[in-house]
Amino acid sequence: MDSAATPLEGVRQTIAKACKIARREMDEITLIAVSKTHPAERIKPLLEQGQRVFGENRVQEAQEKWPVLREAYPDTELHLIGQLQSNKADDAVALFDVIHSLDRPSLLKALAKAMDKAGKRVPCFVQVNIGDEDQKGGCPIGELPAFLDAVRARDIPIAGLMCIPPADIEAAPFFAFLDKLARDNGLDGSEAGLSMGMSSDYETAIMQGATHIRVGTALFGARGSGHG
Ligand SMILES: *Cc1c(COP(=O)(O)O)cnc(C)c1O
Repeated sequence: MDSAATPLEGVRQTIAKACKIARREMDEITLIAVSKTHPAERIKPLLEQGQRVFGENRVQEAQEKWPVLREAYPDTELHLIGQLQSNKADDAVALFDVIHSLDRPSLLKALAKAMDKAGKRVPCFVQVNIGDEDQKGGCPIGELPAFLDAVRARDIPIAGLMCIPPADIEAAPFFAFLDKLARDNGLDGSEAGLSMGMSSDYETAIMQGATHIRVGTALFGARGSGHG
């Protein structure tokens, strides 16, 4: 059915197909290879194939795996895609190039402090609780305008909006809604990123305007049970 020699090639081909249908350019889409739970030996082949953007969801796991890999591939970009506890803000700022899970005032305060201390600014996606789910992280939709103002007031570069739609329902309307929220809140230029789409729905996300897709299983295979 497809001619891909590796999972990475297969995902790239799928991205190309979706871009063609959506009349978008490939270089508008950043593929984040989500390597959480996978050891360095599984990550190296992707680095060898030229993949340079990776996502992890736990600060400590990333600290254990990435310093060595990055020494070999210094142009690697590391994205934090998982929920972040405020007490890990210093470590996250030290290690990651982009954070996708800024979602609440207490974390904003911790990250701003960590960035001030480190003398660097790490661009952050503001995660939105797009399905209004009690158990999920993300800024409540109604609080988004005020929260974006608060992020700006702390001088944290906004990379855009991020969401994880509810499981087991069609994701497209949630992706479209995140895109609408970005427009309604005047996010453009470097603030206009949309981090949405995972292995099961990244084609749909590209059709709906995703700029960053977070793909794990389609690249690495299934993760062991008990992990994020
Ligand atoms: C694990 C994870 C992904 C990747 O999910 P797959 O279904 O394996 O592609 C994407 N985003 C977030 C926030 C994740 O935690």
